This record gives sequence, structure tokens and C-alpha cells, in this order.
Amino acid sequence: MSPPDNPSCPMADDPPPADACAGSPVAQAEGATGPSAGQLKGELTLRAELIANIPYAAMTLLGSAVLLVCVGGVFWRWLSAGLYLAYGLAGAFWVMLFICPYCRFHGTRQCPCGYGRIAARLRPSKNGDGFARQFRRHIPVIVPIWFIPLIAGGIGLLAGFSWVLVGLMLVFAVDSFVVLPLVSTRYSCARCPQKSECPWTGRRCGGG
Ligand code: SF4
Repeated sequence: MSPPDNPSCPMADDPPPADACAGSPVAQAEGATGPSAGQLKGELTLRAELIANIPYAAMTLLGSAVLLVCVGGVFWRWLSAGLYLAYGLAGAFWVMLFICPYCRFHGTRQCPCGYGRIAARLRPSKNGDGFARQFRRHIPVIVPIWFIPLIAGGIGLLAGFSWVLVGLMLVFAVDSFVVLPLVSTRYSCARCPQKSECPWTGRRCGGG
């Protein structure tokens, strides 16, 4: 990604990311007290929110495509692909309902992916209390989204080898396990002043 102060950068009007590691001086300065006043000035644009959502959207579409190819029978393949898509959408709303209300960016434009603004229409804020506890409790609900297509695709390959299926599974795996975490840690989470308290980003950076 080009530096944010580069005029040719499509994200030049977005606020610059903070240091991506929770152990950094930036994160340590935030400590348990949350974002600084300077960081709270930085509102994310709609474009930044959309970019942050592309890898997750791609994952659910690719996962559905894997199921469409590997499940036998027209009815069952469309049903499984549709259910997986619905699960991906429901997973996003689960986060908005059960995690975002506990985040300080609930109802603000500081949320990296825009969920916080939608969440504010669904549930009132819990004032930032218990974020880490809620994250640990509810994130397992969406974890199967990362694995269902690979398990179903693996079974499909055992039943009958297909290069199309192998290719779809590879693209799905690269998006889910490489691109999505990279975008999160280098772009979305890197811009989140609450990352020092996040069980996901904090652990990945060797922090909290
Ligand atoms: S930063 Fe994360 S937890 Fe906070 S409002 Fe946005 S999506 Fe929800």
C-alpha cells in the first residue's frame, strides 16, 4: 500500500494507520485508557470502510463457489451455497450485535470496517466495557466460516478430483488466511486505536 500522504494514493484522504503492533510506543501510549484525543479526530471514509470489507465479502463468495462445485445434486449444492452465504452475512451481524456495542467506536466513524455505525442502529452502546471478554466469547461463532468450504471441498476432492475445485479452494484459502489477516493487521486493525485491547490484534503482535 502506498503511504497515505502520497497524493496518488487512493486512500490519501484516509487517516494514516498507527503502528501495527500493540507493543509499539503508540499502543503503549494508549494503554488501557483507549484512544487519544488526536486519534479520535481521525474519521474513516466510506471508501476506507468498503476496502476493509472486501476480503471478508470475497471469502463468503468464494466459499459459496466452493460449495457450489463440490456438493452433489443441484438442489443440495444451491442450498449449501445459499446457507453459507447467509451464515457469512449473519456472522457480520453477530459481530455487530454482540461485540460492537462493547467497543468504543460503536456509533462512530473511527470503526475501521463501518460495523460500528450499523451496530449503533441495532443496539445501544455498552460504553466500551468488557470488550475483550465479549470478543473472546463471540468470535468462535464465526470461525467455522473459514473452514466449512475447505472441509467440504476436501471431501469433494476425495469423491472426485477436480482442478476447478482445487483452484477455487486455493483462492479461498489465500484470501481467507493470507489476504484477510494482512488487510486486518496492516490496514483495518492498524488504524484502530483500540487494538491494544483486542485479543486478536494484541496476540498477533505479541501484545495484550
Ligand atoms: S472496531 Fe471492531 S468491534 Fe469496534 S465497532 Fe468496529 S467492528 Fe465493531
